[in-house]
Parts: sequence; C-alpha cells; structure tokens
Amino acid sequence: MRFADIIGQERVKHQLRKSVHEGLIPHAQLFVGPQGVGKLQLAIAFAQYLACPNRSDEDSCGQCPSCLQYQKLQHPDLHFAFPIVKNDSADVCDDFIEPFRQLILEKGYFDLDDWYAAIGVETKQGMIYEKESSEILRKLSLKSFGDGYKVMIIWQPQKMNVTCANKLLKLLEEPPQQTLFILVTEQPELLLPTILSRVQQVRIPRLEEAEIAQGLIAKGHDVDAADWAHIAGGSFLTALKLAVQKGANTQYLSDFIELMRDAYTIGHIKDAQKKVDALCHIRKWSLDMADSKVGREKQKAFLQYAQRQVRENYIYNLQHPELNYQTSDERSFSTKFAPFINDTNVELLMTELDKAERQITQNGNAKIIFFDLCMQFIVALKK
Ligand SMILES: [Zn+2]
Repeated sequence: MRFADIIGQERVKHQLRKSVHEGLIPHAQLFVGPQGVGKLQLAIAFAQYLACPNRSDEDSCGQCPSCLQYQKLQHPDLHFAFPIVKNDSADVCDDFIEPFRQLILEKGYFDLDDWYAAIGVETKQGMIYEKESSEILRKLSLKSFGDGYKVMIIWQPQKMNVTCANKLLKLLEEPPQQTLFILVTEQPELLLPTILSRVQQVRIPRLEEAEIAQGLIAKGHDVDAADWAHIAGGSFLTALKLAVQKGANTQYLSDFIELMRDAYTIGHIKDAQKKVDALCHIRKWSLDMADSKVGREKQKAFLQYAQRQVRENYIYNLQHPELNYQTSDERSFSTKFAPFINDTNVELLMTELDKAERQITQNGNAKIIFFDLCMQFIVALKK
C-alpha cells in the first residue's frame, strides 16, 4: 500500500515521511484517531515506505521486490496482531492471517464488526490472547529478512488480554534491534497507562468532506456522494457504509414518512372516515414493523434512524442548512414536515423512540412496542 492509495491525511503522511528522511523513527508508535479515517492503511504505507530501497521523497516505488511483497501484505518483515476468536484448530493470529489480509486488500476501510463478520463470528468477544505475546516475541526475535526494520502492527491493541499486554510492555521497554511497533486504535483510553506512556502518539484526524466525497466517487458511489460525505462526520468508512446501505435507508425513510403522516392525520383531521382509515393503516404499519421477518437488528436500526430524522427535522426549523445532515430525499420531506416537530414535542418523540429501541434490545414484544409507539406519536404530533 502506498501513501497515494490512501484518502487525504496529507499532514500525517508528511509527518511520517519526515521521520524517515530525518532518521528519527520512534520504535513504538500509536496511530490514534476516529474510526474509518485510514489509520491501519497509513501504518502499512509507512512500513512499506520505510522498507522500499527506491522510495522517492513522496512515496514508496510500488515496483521493487519489497514493495511487491508489501502490496500483497506478505513481506516477511511485516507482522500483524489483531483480535481473534479462537476455536479448536486456531488460536493465534497467524491462523487468521489470510482473511485479515484479504479484508485489508479488498476493503481497506473496515471496523471490528466487519472483521468479525469476515471470520464468521457474531460475538464481540474477540481478543488478542496471551499466547499471541509469545508469537510476537518469536517473530521479532527472528533476524530481519532484509537489513531493514521488522514491523509489528497491532490492530485494536485495547483488545489485548492483560497478561499479553504486560508481556508486550517488556518488549516496548527493551525492543529488539531494528523493530518498529505500530499500535492502531480508536480507543486509546482502554489501553494500559503503562503502554500509553511508552508509545509516541500519532494523531490521525477526521477527513475533509471533499476528500470523502472524492473517495466515494472513486469507488463508484457518485450518487449523493456529497450528502454521504457530509453526514459521515469525517469518517470514510461511515460514508461508505451509508452509500452501500442506501437501499435500507430509503426503506427506513419511507417507513418514517408513513408513521408521521398517519400519526398526524389521526390527530388533526376532523373527517371521521379518514381518521378510521389512518388508524387502520397505522395499525398495519406497526404489525409490519413488528413482523419477525424484519428481525430485531433492522427494527433497532429503524428506530435509530427515526431518532436521527426527528433530530434533523427539529434542527431544520432553525434554517441553518450547514447544521443539517440529510440526504436530498430526507430534506425534501423535511420541507413540509419539519414545522410539526417543535419545542413541545421533540423531547417526547425522542424519548419514545429511545424507549422502543431499548425494549426491542431487551426482546420485548415487538407488536406491543410498535403499536404503543404509534399511539405516543399521535399524541405528540397533536402538540
Ligand atoms: Zn519499492
């Protein structure tokens, strides 16, 4: 991976290149920053740059034997440690290295959930086990393949088991010759203070909206690229997931619109027949939402989406578009609907959605939860 392959982060790239040019490379570094901004890729590109004998001032050459091995993530001096979920036949990172390489090469930007999905585990119990520390020590004790650095990239080091972390501490204190540790995390507060104090922090900031939009277009997501970039809050991964899930979001928006229209009609329309029709409709809506085929995850995702839309519609009334984070379809609904979300009902709406989400998480009866939510919305939209 070359620096040129990574979206934005020019200041960080410059800082990393400078450390190589000046020969001042801290042996243990912590790449820290929000999710989805390119931390892991920067760590790999930095290591490739360091190893490339033909590097320019700007980047690795991408063609020498070292770069070619790096580009497949198979350079013998490049090592990874990351959370795994062990089983009867696999208990160290090397047993999972192929899917890990594949995920980096195919997706580039991914999070722990994506990783667990890639190795087919649903549990969040992934860990860097104690046994991994002996693996790390063994790998770093080997003579380096070339005459360059041996690089150990530890992705999500906060998932290290305590014994493993303590053994790593010793290595960070007395590193083997020509060794570079790069720890990559978005949760430095979960690291042992003793580890934090032994690493040089490299802060990786949020990306610019224009950089994210460009990255999306490069990946073929040109529709609404600027909107996704704006909503994503500086994370390319979030923008990418939003663009990919566009189908789901469109469905959530239409569900949200149905709920709001019916609830409003029931509360405001005098015509008895129309009221009854809307009541029947909202009842059907709640049954459809509660259907077990929809599933708890989607029900929760919808309730989170609805909370976001209530918030966005409330803010929409302030008439400061730069404060709004919506797609064009969402905005177009807000032009008519936003005035009905106001100071007297916004809190109730948010509380009810939040309550419904919690009850769904706790395996409550979805039919009752969604119907109750509808009733509360009728009351709230009357205000
Ligand atoms: Zn090269």
